[in-house]
Amino acid sequence: MIEDRKAELLRTLPSVDEVLRSNEIKDMLDAYPRELVVASIREALERVRNQLLADDGTAGEKTRACHIAEMAGDVLESLALRLRPNLRRVINGTGVVLHTNLGRAVLPAGAIEAVHMAASGYCNIEMNLASGKRGSRYAVVEELLRSLTGAESCLVVNNNAAAVLLALSSLARSREVIVSRGQLVEIGGSFRIPEVMAQSGAILVEVGATNKTHPDDYRRAITENTALLLHVHMSNYRIVGFTRETTVEEMVEIGREKGLPVMSDLGSGFLVDMARFGLPPEPTVQQVLAAGADVVTFSGDKLLGGPQAGIIVGRREFIDEMKKNPLTRAVRIDKMTIAALEATLREYLDPEAAVRNVPTLRMLSAEANDLMKRAGELLILLQEASREKAVITLEAGTSAVGGGAMPTAELPGGIVAINPLTISVSELASRLRKGDPAVIGRLQEDRLLIDVRTIQKGEDMILAGAIAAALDSRGDRF
Ligand SMILES: *Cc1c(COP(=O)(O)O)cnc(C)c1O
Repeated sequence: MIEDRKAELLRTLPSVDEVLRSNEIKDMLDAYPRELVVASIREALERVRNQLLADDGTAGEKTRACHIAEMAGDVLESLALRLRPNLRRVINGTGVVLHTNLGRAVLPAGAIEAVHMAASGYCNIEMNLASGKRGSRYAVVEELLRSLTGAESCLVVNNNAAAVLLALSSLARSREVIVSRGQLVEIGGSFRIPEVMAQSGAILVEVGATNKTHPDDYRRAITENTALLLHVHMSNYRIVGFTRETTVEEMVEIGREKGLPVMSDLGSGFLVDMARFGLPPEPTVQQVLAAGADVVTFSGDKLLGGPQAGIIVGRREFIDEMKKNPLTRAVRIDKMTIAALEATLREYLDPEAAVRNVPTLRMLSAEANDLMKRAGELLILLQEASREKAVITLEAGTSAVGGGAMPTAELPGGIVAINPLTISVSELASRLRKGDPAVIGRLQEDRLLIDVRTIQKGEDMILAGAIAAALDSRGDRF
């Protein structure tokens, strides 16, 4: 019986054309592209069909006119979803300061303004306005990088992966590059030293053991065909216990003995020493150059806190070699990156100001007391917003640096824990992810943790609103 009625109802479902001609939908065609409206109608019809098939017989009274009227709302909602940009603002409650999946560094205000300026009109990216002649797009960032790091020369490319590839391809094509077995790093997104090496045309020579590589291991591996000694920063892992790493200084000593350049892939690349904020010691770019490295590469959007970029600093003869490589043009940075990088680097001209103005540094150096205070303020807002639909508590906890940097660092901070009472915690997390802005927290058993370290200025109220909506709504809005 039910099956017969279902079959009949399915036959009476309107066609896409009929829906399109209906009064409810006709107006939408003025406001939205026809293909989008058609696709949304198909989706809505599919939903009705599936509902009918899953029905136990209680929906049998519905008429076809009623379907179309009801569907209009559905179609509008589908349209809104289709037209909504995929890239949305995310409130990062994970406490991971450099979250690669969430876009790594939050740019300094000056960099945001510069990007806006560069994107919204023309700019003098390759024109020297004083002479009216063609200029270099790299000139200003080069000048800044030279004065900040003390390097002879520099070059900026698309990201640090490109920087390493370009450097190896320019300095060691068809020749040997010596690397410690403890430093054959894999960075997320399939950057692996042995594979980058192969792609560059350089020949990888591994030396030492995973836990120990001695200076003599490098010395013994040097042949007539050696082009470079490469030191790779163990960005996202640590080897502890019975270990010995040959330092950049020691490698430089060997390099000088044998007339070979030394390159350091520093990964993150701090320009200010952050140890005074209780962060684990990390060599700064200046220190690695002072130790004698001939070429140093690092990312723009890791600890530097700027746009995605790969920065290469070092001796002029090597950088000039790279500038001649056709690959340089292929990994060129655009005007928005130049604008953001220039503004970010300018912040570092005053290192004290940089710690305040570069959000990455500000978040990393935030003090536990201040974070607990902020968490206390957020707690009150969220308790009001949750209207007893969740138990919300304050906790001390730790945050991570992220972005493949300082993997063992645990930064003490303040956390608000939400234990929802009317829905499951995974449902809460899912609703928050689908909102606009999306909210991402950390799941811990039956609680969602929001770490205030990575909540930006002005986001508290928006976060409270998002949590109120997620706890409040029936699931169908999400
Ligand atoms: C992160 C990292 C890279 C890759 O840098 P991207 O800017 O992400 O391309 C390369 N080497 C090391 C050691 C790194 O830490």
